[in-house]
Amino acid sequence: MSDRAPRTVERQLPTEESKDLLTLVRDIVEREIVPRASEEEEAGHFPRETFSLLSESGLLGLPYDSEHGGGDQPYEVYLQVLEELAAARLTVGLGVSVHSLACHALASYGTPGQQAAHLPAMLGGGLLGAYCLSEPASGSDAASLGTKAVRDGDDWLITGTKAWITHGGVADFYTVLARSGGAGAGGISAFLVPGDADGLVAAAPEKKMGMKGSPTAQLHFDGVRIGDDRRIGDEGQGFAIALSALDSGRLGIAACAVGVAQAALDGAVEYATGRRQFGRPIADFQGLRFMLADMATRVEAGRALYLAAARLRDAGLPFSRQAAMAKLFCTDAAMQVTTDAVQVLGGYGYTADFPVERYMREAKVLQIVEGTNQIQRMVIARHLAGPETR
Ligand SMILES: Cc1cc2nc3c(=O)[nH]c(=O)nc-3n(C[C@H](O)[C@H](O)[C@H](O)COP(=O)(O)OP(=O)(O)OC[C@H]3O[C@@H](n4cnc5c(N)ncnc54)[C@H](O)[C@@H]3O)c2cc1C
Repeated sequence: MSDRAPRTVERQLPTEESKDLLTLVRDIVEREIVPRASEEEEAGHFPRETFSLLSESGLLGLPYDSEHGGGDQPYEVYLQVLEELAAARLTVGLGVSVHSLACHALASYGTPGQQAAHLPAMLGGGLLGAYCLSEPASGSDAASLGTKAVRDGDDWLITGTKAWITHGGVADFYTVLARSGGAGAGGISAFLVPGDADGLVAAAPEKKMGMKGSPTAQLHFDGVRIGDDRRIGDEGQGFAIALSALDSGRLGIAACAVGVAQAALDGAVEYATGRRQFGRPIADFQGLRFMLADMATRVEAGRALYLAAARLRDAGLPFSRQAAMAKLFCTDAAMQVTTDAVQVLGGYGYTADFPVERYMREAKVLQIVEGTNQIQRMVIARHLAGPETR
């Protein structure tokens, strides 16, 4: 049995170069990622070798400047690459999105000296990154984070615990938000911490419902010493940097969600046209035909929404509201579509013999990460009606 159904996506891409890029990505996906995806996910294997291959192929720095080793690709193209990777295996698609998120602070707010020193290795030199905002007691209310950064001469000492860190324990660098000043958002600064820093210890990875190949772990910082040349942006600018990274990161999550949903739709269509009951293919029954039609419509609507937001970003226009909408819509759509795909396959859908149950478990996490979908609704409502009055 094939690991997944044939792909049915027709893409609009802006240049010949971007078409070639998508062809390269599909080739890597079919050769290197799909054949091992379900088995490695079940075993909880982190595919570091796949990330090394993606880096060698220039796919870990796509939306960043070529001056620093990036791929110079617009978000419109980068996100469609993410979609293809996530359709094959969310651990890989989301991993690339998180790596991009971790690079955002330095690429957008670093000094030219910092960028020259670190970005080439981060964008194309084989390094893998992680983004450290959440803490055990500070999730949605991220501005209340408690990890401390205290001045010690020309250095900073970072102490505290970060939680839920994708690539925690396996990353080569961590973009860390820590409190260098007083309470609230204005007391937070951003730091670039090497993965092998003294005093930095990762806990055992969380045991998760899905994305088992992607390590998610707490990180304990016990007086981790960082030079001031690794502080990114101004003191107190960290929370603004973190939110700016999340605006772009949410588009990545939206694209990953569409990828997972598309894979589930393809699997459902393939199964429904092959499986016979009552002497006919089950795809003959209107109850299923309408379900498939609704699934396909959600997938197309999600893709259109994230691409519209991406094109605003590429044009240098504000896109924060549209990114929240894309994250909200695409991840809710992925949950619905993957759940429906399991239904289309009946009992077989509930088994690990087909990947649709994996897609359903993968979709769930996308409604939670990078701001839960309740938080996305808060962001959208603030754009519409202003901040809450209390
Ligand atoms: C697999 C995985 C990977 C992750 N990777 C990373 C990572 O790499 N880096 C990182 O920093 N974090 C990461 N996270 C953390 C993720 O961003 C948080 O889990 C998320 O922001 C929610 O925080 P929380 O889990 O503390 O939930 P809480 O904030 O405690 O929320 C619990 C519930 O309350 C709801 N809620 C909270 N406040 C409100 C409100 N004002 N209005 C309405 N509802 C509300 C939430 O929507 C949620 O349903 C990851 C999480 C997971 C599960």
